[in-house]
Amino acid sequence: MQVLKFGGTSVANAENIHKVVAIVKQAVQREKTIVIVSALGGITDTLLRAGQLAASGQENYKELLQVSEQRHLETVKSLIPVALQSSVLSWVKQRCNEIEDICNGVFLLGELSARTRDRIISFGELLSSRIISERLKSVSTPNEWKDSRELIVTDSTFGFAAIDFSATNKKVQEYFSGSAESLFMAPGFIASDAHGATTTIGRGGSDYTAAIFAAATNATIVEIWTDVSGMMTADPRLVPNAKVIPHISYQEAMELSHFGAKVIYPPTIQPVMNKNIPVWIKNTFAPDDYGTLIESRTVKNGSSIRGISSINKIVLLSLEGSGMIGIPGFSKRLFEALANERINVILITQGSSEHSICVGIDESSVHEAKKTVDNAFAYEIETKKVEPIIVERELAIVALVGDNMKSHPGTSGKMFGALGRNGVNVRAIAQGSSERNISAVIAVADVRKAINILHEEFFETTYKQVNLFVTGVGNVGSRLLSQLAQQRRYLEEHLHLQVRVVGIANSRKMAFNEEGIDLNNWRQLLEDAVPMSLQEYIEVIRSKNLRNSVFADVTANDKVAETYDQLLSKSISVVACNKVACSSSFSYYKKLKDLAREYNASFAFETNVGAGLPVIGTLNDLLRSGDKINRIEAVLSGTLNFVFNHYKGEKTFAEVVKQAQDEGYTEPDPRLDLSGTDVMRKIMILARETGERLELEDIHNISFMPESCMKGDVANFYQEMSKHEDHFKKLYAEAAGAGKKLKFVAKYESGKASVGLQHIDANHDFYHLYGKDNVVLFYTNRYTEQPLVVKGAGAGAEVTASGVFADIIRTAKM
Ligand code: ADP
Ligand code: ASP
Ligand code: MG
Repeated sequence: MQVLKFGGTSVANAENIHKVVAIVKQAVQREKTIVIVSALGGITDTLLRAGQLAASGQENYKELLQVSEQRHLETVKSLIPVALQSSVLSWVKQRCNEIEDICNGVFLLGELSARTRDRIISFGELLSSRIISERLKSVSTPNEWKDSRELIVTDSTFGFAAIDFSATNKKVQEYFSGSAESLFMAPGFIASDAHGATTTIGRGGSDYTAAIFAAATNATIVEIWTDVSGMMTADPRLVPNAKVIPHISYQEAMELSHFGAKVIYPPTIQPVMNKNIPVWIKNTFAPDDYGTLIESRTVKNGSSIRGISSINKIVLLSLEGSGMIGIPGFSKRLFEALANERINVILITQGSSEHSICVGIDESSVHEAKKTVDNAFAYEIETKKVEPIIVERELAIVALVGDNMKSHPGTSGKMFGALGRNGVNVRAIAQGSSERNISAVIAVADVRKAINILHEEFFETTYKQVNLFVTGVGNVGSRLLSQLAQQRRYLEEHLHLQVRVVGIANSRKMAFNEEGIDLNNWRQLLEDAVPMSLQEYIEVIRSKNLRNSVFADVTANDKVAETYDQLLSKSISVVACNKVACSSSFSYYKKLKDLAREYNASFAFETNVGAGLPVIGTLNDLLRSGDKINRIEAVLSGTLNFVFNHYKGEKTFAEVVKQAQDEGYTEPDPRLDLSGTDVMRKIMILARETGERLELEDIHNISFMPESCMKGDVANFYQEMSKHEDHFKKLYAEAAGAGKKLKFVAKYESGKASVGLQHIDANHDFYHLYGKDNVVLFYTNRYTEQPLVVKGAGAGAEVTASGVFADIIRTAKM
């Protein structure tokens, strides 16, 4: 004997039933077969809803029943040849009338008991199995239809009835051995109690019906035909990268389904496991796919875990109090109280201090649970030995499952490390002593993210996905996007990184796409997108709650810099070429660094000093390796360097500054460069990175700009510079006359920083500094006579973008 079960989607309509019929026709050629079917997809829910509406006095239950009746009649008309239709149609019509009669009764009484509810929903499977049986007959596949209620005996827990296996097995064996037929059709999900009343065996229970028949008849196999190609490493609706698990043990399958893998109803495994009958999950819509074979032996898959699942709607109940320590019997009383109310405990944890016990239960039982536990401990609560029970809602369980975890130390470390890095807070943890399951209780809002993180950690050795938000798409931002597009293949192949740009924004518009924005068409997409609102933009990034999120700030905007704390505190890494945050108050700079550490995020700003040059990285490497920075001397303004290298008294000073701006070497506001403010910020950031508590006011700036240039707007700035051409000529001539060059130099030594124009002679490291180059000299305990020198192009959109790019990649590899 073999048992085949077809789920709701597989029999949802005539078209799908054709596929089922083809599979059954092949199967009967192999051996004697029992076919179990679910109700037409969605019908159980429709009937349930009709019953509820009727009970609450709403007449539109009739409309739902109409819909259900029409669907069944249509299915008959499309499946059964006209000559044979009438008897089937009239049988279906009679059943539909019965449902309506019952619902009318419910409507009149205004009451729906669990028993009546079971009666109503039982019609779904009755109708579908009968219709499919008739279809098979009409295509010359004779079969015997049997009402499962005559074979499966349960107790009277309506909605969730427990099987009386000894009575059931006897009836099933008698019936099947007494028939010479080679194909049987029967409804799943339904049974009857000792008094003959209709019961159901739990939502999704048709799988269980198949297992009960299989175990009783010692079947060779149970095939569960559904709408996916097997049991997967995670729920495919949550994890797009989930993969089919070809082989899995009974225990693993049971554990995964208990923890939410809906593909098989959890109690299904038990009866077949006892008899060692394999269960094969197959896809009705892709019958050639291998599917999943569930058996007793486990096949190693190279990973310590087999799958990940989750259950939402969990509530944590915590019983706490110093009066519990060392006194036996508290947990017994807690569990007894819950058991008396038939409340199922899904997860238990107890700290070894015995100061608290914590249990996870289904949200639907929370009121009864609180009442019964508070009652049970009324005396202790009154005498303050324990606190009234604490209830926490909106929680979920995520569980890793695998027989092999036993022999793989480090699984839980990896699990909690990955969750922690992504800011998923874990409320409670449980690991069974079988070491087949590690469960974590987390917020419902974090489930999708958590499952994807864990899936990536345990199954996707191939790629790590980084979700990037690029804010600012001007000179630097647009180049960053094109570098990302160009390097995509390389990153995937060599670093196993998949960088997805999920959001982009400029000051006017913002666009999102979780699948990744098309980097060849981002300008148009942004043009067509919604208006930018910074707070909304940040809120979307936070609420998307995507794993490995990185926020790249490629603006020079102070409002954007003010949002970093909101991002870091959600474990979203920040990569900034915007200098505002690091050069604002020391306390904000420090706060951001602390937040990054606290929430396992990265806060990277290498491009704040020297654009793409490795200045901050080098400084940190020196410090980390135990060196001490004694002095820093640097030319840090690509703009000023460009200006003084090009100004020879031929073109006017204003013209040279304009050229620098036009070629993209200045800050968006060139006055920040010319005033020396930008250099002050940079030397301050370097000083802060060495641990110095420096503020901008502490830095000495000997400005070379006439005061009037810095008043008013940018237009005025250029005008005033032209007026003061003589001043600039004089500066140049003085230096040139002495064979020296003008450089704007920043210094930091013994806690003091200064910036100003200097005459540099030909022997100095700064003399041969061309174009827009920057140079930084680090004098340290190890580099005493000759400094460590970092030198190269220190401005320009392309090199700045590449610096931001490098920070993003370093963050991603963290
Ligand atoms: P049927 O109606 O055939 O019984 P179900 O809807 O009960 O089908 O179960 C199949 C569905 O279970 C799939 O469509 C899938 O969305 C969901 N599912 C959840 N977790 C998993 C998992 N780990 N592997 C496969 N499917 C899963
Ligand atoms: N039709 C029932 C349900 O929807 C049983 C099943 O499909 O397995 O729960
Ligand atoms: Mg199911």
